[in-house]
Amino acid sequence: MFSRILIANRGEIALRIIRAARELGLETVCVYSEADRDGPWLLQADHSICIGPPAPLDSYLRIDRIIAAAETSKADAIHPGYGFLAENAEFATVCRDCHIEFIGPSPEAMALLGDKISCRAMAKKAGTPIFPGSEEAIEEEDEAMELAHEIGFPVIVKAAAGGGGRGMRVVHTAEELQPAIQSAQQEAASAFGNGAVYIEKFLERARHVEVQCLGDKHGNAIHLYNRDCTSQRRHQKLIEEGPAPGVPDEIRDKVCQSAADLIRNAEYSGAATCEFLMDRDSTFYMLEVNTRVQVEHPVTEMITGVDIVKESIRVAAGLPLSHAQEDISINGHSIECRINAEDPDRDFMPQAGTVKEYVQPGGLGVRVDSHVTSGYVIPPNYDSMIAKLIVHGRDREEAIARMKSALSEFRIGPGKTTIPLHQRILTERAFVEMDVDIHYVERLLAGEEG
Ligand code: ADP
Repeated sequence: MFSRILIANRGEIALRIIRAARELGLETVCVYSEADRDGPWLLQADHSICIGPPAPLDSYLRIDRIIAAAETSKADAIHPGYGFLAENAEFATVCRDCHIEFIGPSPEAMALLGDKISCRAMAKKAGTPIFPGSEEAIEEEDEAMELAHEIGFPVIVKAAAGGGGRGMRVVHTAEELQPAIQSAQQEAASAFGNGAVYIEKFLERARHVEVQCLGDKHGNAIHLYNRDCTSQRRHQKLIEEGPAPGVPDEIRDKVCQSAADLIRNAEYSGAATCEFLMDRDSTFYMLEVNTRVQVEHPVTEMITGVDIVKESIRVAAGLPLSHAQEDISINGHSIECRINAEDPDRDFMPQAGTVKEYVQPGGLGVRVDSHVTSGYVIPPNYDSMIAKLIVHGRDREEAIARMKSALSEFRIGPGKTTIPLHQRILTERAFVEMDVDIHYVERLLAGEEG
């Protein structure tokens, strides 16, 4: 096992990793930017090192400074959290070259699953359901047109190296195809340095369902069942829950098993998530694999009892997974609401500044993952998520009631947050009955859904 790990992240996930490391008896080193000098999570770390100015490009994304901090603090491993360098294969390679363990997959597994074209090919082999579409990057206009007709419009042009929704174009008619391919190729080349694009079937009204997986360096891979993350705004998840409601057990087990098979075939170690869109008839199509711990991982921890962050540290140290597939079962239901410092009434304008009042909810089955305390100053430079409120109940009904109660207890001010929006969604017929698709929150906000 390691003796000291460096956390190349900030906020709630830095705190989450500190807690896991401490339980494992490990010391922690946090790197921070000048904007995070007073970050409350730093008080919980054993050591902290400033690595530069507020802009992520000058601090949290500076591989050289993070490695220097790890070397001077004698950390033997680095946990990247999510965002920043978490899915950067170059960073994972530099760590390896410097003999510092990257807590996550090997650069090879990350690259293989991070490239959407090679990931689709691997998924096909593993029996993981994918959208009908290209097997390789588009080279010839005629071939792309032929394929689009074969799978039927609408189709979506996507970048192999895509992320953050960039390099994607929805195409409804044959005339739009060629210009969409060209502009997607250009956007992908400038955003990712890789202009490869492919096409797949576009699904209009689907739910987002994902499968949490874990792998180790001994060829073991398991799944921890699924989560539903359909409540989104501009592709940003707002509410996540698990297990995904209304998925027939047989289909759920088959898809979850195929996701575990995929990451086993990729010789993957650490936490991974296979994301899918699910059609109304419970047909699954893989979107992508996220090669890191996710914001919504607590939902799965609550229903399975598996500590995903601790497991990811253990497997990075070369230990085998502590759980076999047959040990994993689902207990009850869990929901997470992302509390963002944004004003839902003003187009989600970020609310940087001092949090004067901060009172967290509590009680049976209530968990808050947050780095915020009263007096904390939210810097304007980073993501606006300031807390994750997670509840666990016997079933979905109890979890919804518990979430409503916990939201009403939560006091954060004077800045606005997404709490009122969550309260509204939780009472919507569409949410309660799970009659939803990935655009329903946007329709609700536009006053189109009743
Ligand atoms: P990125 O890596 O850029 O986030 P994803 O492949 O995860 O790209 O897709 C981002 C979002 O775009 C998805 O969450 C979904 O809303 C939409 N999307 C992607 N592919 C499809 C598809 N084939 N059909 C319908 N929507 C899609």
